[in-house]
Amino acid sequence: MSDPHELTVLNPATEETVATVPAASAEDVDTAVVRALRAQARWAALAGADRARLLRRFADTVDAHLEELAQLEVRQAGHTVGNARWEAGNARDLLLYAAGGAERLLGAQIPAPGGFNVTFHEPLGVVGVIAPWNFPMPIAAWGSFPALAAGNAVVLKPAETTPLTALRLAGLALEAGLPEHVFQVLPGHGHTAGRALVDHPDVAKIVFTGSTSTGREVMERCARLVKPVTLELGGKSPNVVFADADLAAALDPFSFLDNSGQDCCARTRVLVQESVFEEARAFLAEALAAVVVGDPADDKTQMGPLISRQQLDRVRSYVPEDAPALRGTAPEGPGFWFPPTVLTGERPDGRAAREEIFGPVAVLLPFADEADAVRLANDTPYGLSGSVWTRDLGRALRVSRAVRAGNLSVNSHSSVRYWTPFGGFKQSGLGRELGPDALTAFTETKNVFISTEGPAQ
Ligand code: NDP
Repeated sequence: MSDPHELTVLNPATEETVATVPAASAEDVDTAVVRALRAQARWAALAGADRARLLRRFADTVDAHLEELAQLEVRQAGHTVGNARWEAGNARDLLLYAAGGAERLLGAQIPAPGGFNVTFHEPLGVVGVIAPWNFPMPIAAWGSFPALAAGNAVVLKPAETTPLTALRLAGLALEAGLPEHVFQVLPGHGHTAGRALVDHPDVAKIVFTGSTSTGREVMERCARLVKPVTLELGGKSPNVVFADADLAAALDPFSFLDNSGQDCCARTRVLVQESVFEEARAFLAEALAAVVVGDPADDKTQMGPLISRQQLDRVRSYVPEDAPALRGTAPEGPGFWFPPTVLTGERPDGRAAREEIFGPVAVLLPFADEADAVRLANDTPYGLSGSVWTRDLGRALRVSRAVRAGNLSVNSHSSVRYWTPFGGFKQSGLGRELGPDALTAFTETKNVFISTEGPAQ
């Protein structure tokens, strides 16, 4: 049973305590929201160019502490140090992108008989961001920085297992000169602090990233207050590999092993055309055996531990010891280790082929032709990401349009760029983050009609 007043942050590679931090109560959330409301009024009154200047200074401060942030992420989340550096850099880059947006948050002028209309993008007020543990820095940044740039204040609740980098980002914001209480981070439990944020009448919008079941609850609670919500939920993304593809690139095991598979965009359903299926199986067997799993602080390590004992138990429940599978190796423990695994005897409608496992586990399935590939790719309640590998451009376009998912890549495994929209179809979520519309998602559009006829005589 976890302590309601305190969070213990464990290093998942060693199970040693990294830090303990106080857990916010519902009253703490209320205090933070009241402070945020006051700070937001002044923040929104600044010219966009002035907010941009402060956000750029915040980016510079993050940049100066990149290595510190990365090392903190290695310790609290078990991310490989290379990935953690990229993640801190992603937070910095998004600050710069959002700062540019603050300068260009333009309305429209729409002519009308007897006058004209002017539209304004007005900030919502206080935005609540609830972040998960799998990418603590980037996901905190995606929900918070565009909201700040658009003139909102943010109260962020990080996951209870990984509060430290978000807390450090809030400290760096103050060092950079952002006004107090404009960006507050409140570590706490989901069922107390998270719910209090969702239920608070003065929180104008919730951005939630996490499991579909918790996302559904958040949406139901927001509905009671008609509160807008952005949901970034799970995934079970297909990697569709046609026989004419560059197999070595298409079957890169890090398309599903990156971040130990704790990635909502992980290509965990490896769909391979029948004529090259045996070749693919042999390639993957060799590739998994070569993956370096171990100390995430070591630059040579390619895969670290899972986040927690709970997550390890969950992943194990999908992989019985006698399941037909290709397996790499992993340390014994202490730490929450699971070897890279590809299940080879799964049915397309089996639990491991349809549910989000969130560990270093993929399923390998054959398909006959293009129609079969599309049918299998869509045979999941999720629709977040996916890849299509073929040298036939027409087929690449047909299949990537036919797959019901928000972020497809052709001959690539890339999913997330801060300058392109990101989000899911079906039960993978609602709304989009990042990209050119990132700021307007945190505004209300107001139209003002101005008469040129003068007051009625
Ligand atoms: P959750 O969805 O429960 O947690 C995500 C965030 O929501 C955390 O900050 C959590 O707080 C908070 N939260 C939990 N309950 C509530 C609530 N009732 N109201 C408001 N906020 C709440 O995910 P889990 O950590 O339990 O992970 C379970 C599974 O979810 C994973 O195995 C994976 O399949 C999926 N997942 C998907 C992610 C994605 O990126 N799409 C990210 C993380 C998980 P707290 O930390 O205190 O629980």
